[in-house]
Amino acid sequence: MKFIGTRGGKPVTGAEAIVRGMAEGGGLYVPEQFPAVTEDELSAMLGMNYPERAALIIGKYFDEFPADELLRELTAAYEKFEGEDPVPLIRIEDGLYILELFHGPTCAFKDIALTVLPYLMRKGCDLLHVKDEILILTATSGDTGKAALEGFRDARGVKVAVFYPDEGVSKMQKLQMVTQDGENVDVVAVKGNFDDCQSAVKKIFRSQECRDKLAERGVLLSSANSINIGRLVPQIAYYFSAYCDLVTSEQIKMGDEVDFSVPTGNFGNILAAYYAKRMGLPIGTLVCASNRNNVLTDFFRKGIYDKKRPFFRTMSPSMDILVSSNLERLLFELCGRDPALVVERMKSLGGAGRYSLRPEELREACELFYAGCAGEEDTVECVYEFFEEFNYPLDTHTGVAMHVAREYCRKRAEDVNLQPRPMVVVSTASPYKCPQAVYYALTGNDVKDSFKGVKRIHLITAMKVPESLKALRYKPPRFKTLVAPDKIFEEVMNFVG
Ligand SMILES: *Cc1c(COP(=O)(O)O)cnc(C)c1O
Repeated sequence: MKFIGTRGGKPVTGAEAIVRGMAEGGGLYVPEQFPAVTEDELSAMLGMNYPERAALIIGKYFDEFPADELLRELTAAYEKFEGEDPVPLIRIEDGLYILELFHGPTCAFKDIALTVLPYLMRKGCDLLHVKDEILILTATSGDTGKAALEGFRDARGVKVAVFYPDEGVSKMQKLQMVTQDGENVDVVAVKGNFDDCQSAVKKIFRSQECRDKLAERGVLLSSANSINIGRLVPQIAYYFSAYCDLVTSEQIKMGDEVDFSVPTGNFGNILAAYYAKRMGLPIGTLVCASNRNNVLTDFFRKGIYDKKRPFFRTMSPSMDILVSSNLERLLFELCGRDPALVVERMKSLGGAGRYSLRPEELREACELFYAGCAGEEDTVECVYEFFEEFNYPLDTHTGVAMHVAREYCRKRAEDVNLQPRPMVVVSTASPYKCPQAVYYALTGNDVKDSFKGVKRIHLITAMKVPESLKALRYKPPRFKTLVAPDKIFEEVMNFVG
């Protein structure tokens, strides 16, 4: 299987796409074609455990990686998750399910790909005979950074530098990052919000001068952000797995369509669902749920992507994003895989701050996706009511997805031409990860300290507290640097030494 860039360039192998991170001209790597999963393969997956299911899906994209080794690495990665099943599907009631993706070492869904990416990167380098040291450079809205730090901690031949917006991650997220162990890691706060931080980091990726300076020191730049195809592909697997679990638990029959609602920021998670659909998984509608930063809702409703708007800090910080990087991959498909058109639109986004879809592209987008958003009040009410009704504590990101999922289900129910369809809401974080916001949503009360929040949520819900968050309380912070966005590269050079 080869990969091509959304902005053109020649096809490369999976290993090359993973190691490089970003394609030519600032584009993103996409598969040359979508590999199919046959009905027989899907049936065979029913009897598999999660690492086996994931190995089947990932192996279709990265076919130069030895299959037995891939399975061994996936098994080892998912052994780091708490509980029997790394991605359990919870039945709430008939037709409503939650896919819990937060049982990994950092309690957010990004662990699912970032516990596997170090292997893909290391093996990718071996396959390409790359001898340079790899520098993983990452901008994070809170969860990617920690998951990357934890995933790559003390990995051979790799350094990790994580930049996070000083105003824009939860206290718990910050604490997770600044207490990170490992000899090969650097964690730095950046003045401003996530988009400031992300665009400064993207500039380094695009700059040949920066790459040359790093190359002089024997360092090759790569990314653990969801622009890396090695992040995206492992995420496809849990959509297949959730579907299999619905079949084996007799909630649906093989072939029935299922909807997924995904709390969306950079559009990586939901894009993986779209890829699953293109591979043949019977998915109905993909519900794209945004918080108050609802640039994607407007995009799917009006066909215009317009980033020129106020930026809001919300109680779902990992979704506080105005430029969703992975949307470029969807755009590439919607426009008939025309790199020139993607280049034109990205130029327009960089300049005027907006671009629009052609009517037929918008029509296709609306057949695939339903987009909605939840304001802060909506989210609080959803988390509160969901706990009242089902005794299940949602985190605030998942609360956004649940709010929009229920709105979509109501709309379907009102339409006499439509049959009800099972809905899987993708839960991306443990409720203990943003404990103050969740405690407020559950009780209407504030709590000053994150760990008090954890304790009180536990008292109310009796949900198990993840071991990794418990341990955090007694760890001293290691990283205190704060820089302006234009000083990021300097910091990087200091770090690589
Ligand atoms: C990253 C993240 C999201 C957004 O996922 P994208 O792939 O960027 O759309 C949602 N919720 C949580 C908890 C996250 O960490």
